[in-house]
Amino acid sequence: TTGLMAGKRGLIMGLANDKSIAWGIAKALADAGAELAFSYQGEALKKRVEPLAESLGKPLLFECDVANEESMDALFAGLKDAWGTLDFVVHAIGFSDKNELRGRYVDTSRGNFTMTMDISVYSFTAVCARAAAMMPAGGSLLTLTYYGAEQVMPHYNVMGVAKAALEASVKYIAEDLGKLGIRCNAISAGPIKTLAASGIGDFRYIMKWNELNSPLRRNVTQEEVGKAALYLLSDLGSGTTGENLHVDAGYHVVGMKAVDAPDI
Ligand code: NAD
Repeated sequence: TTGLMAGKRGLIMGLANDKSIAWGIAKALADAGAELAFSYQGEALKKRVEPLAESLGKPLLFECDVANEESMDALFAGLKDAWGTLDFVVHAIGFSDKNELRGRYVDTSRGNFTMTMDISVYSFTAVCARAAAMMPAGGSLLTLTYYGAEQVMPHYNVMGVAKAALEASVKYIAEDLGKLGIRCNAISAGPIKTLAASGIGDFRYIMKWNELNSPLRRNVTQEEVGKAALYLLSDLGSGTTGENLHVDAGYHVVGMKAVDAPDI
């Protein structure tokens, strides 16, 4: 893949640590020659994100809370100052109150519903609008979703409803920006042990179930999500937009899931 992203500049949002899906994507893009900028949520994460980012060269680093309009404006103003234009953006951000990522969906509170939709769905739309204004020669936009958008998964609850809205917004954004040569896609990743995932009830059980029932009989890695992202963000994906690419060891095609997970 060396050189596939040579001369391309892009922003990666949602790097928290070396387990982050954003990290798997960043490594694949850097290996392929991309020039990267990172945004991270809050100064507390800086000391973890900075050394990781710097191990990939001399990336730009910005603090950005996507719940805050001024913070988003400052991020894109900073990118405009530094680079002028942009070729791609990766949005690897989601959030919900972990007390509502267990129990029943029907008990979701209005406050957490609104907050989850704001951070996990609207932020991608808001990012795409700002990024598109910096993509005069076209570009590629990518977000991360999960199968809990399509079918009911235990404990995923309001996050599943948010991911369904995120997947719908990918299609609307693909239509809006396609005429500008800008593509918009999602990767639906299988379960991977990350900070965000650890907030979901019984996550270890879900991982085991996926391992035993997916066609490949295993879970996927952040590196595999990185390779799929490279396809969508590079010229290899030039004909693909509005797509939801499953990187889940095939789990989503299985109708009859037969193998029970052992007690864990
Ligand atoms: P992660 O915890 O490493 O990343 C989540 C990121 O969201 C963190 O960097 C966090 O700082 C950021 N974030 C949360 N609220 C924010 C805010 N207000 N402003 C800015 N950033 C904010 O976990 P991850 O699993 O790598 O998650 C990345 C994406 O992948 C999420 O959208 C998640 O839903 C999705 N995803 C994860 C899995 C999985 O099993 N881990 C599967 C499918 C999809």
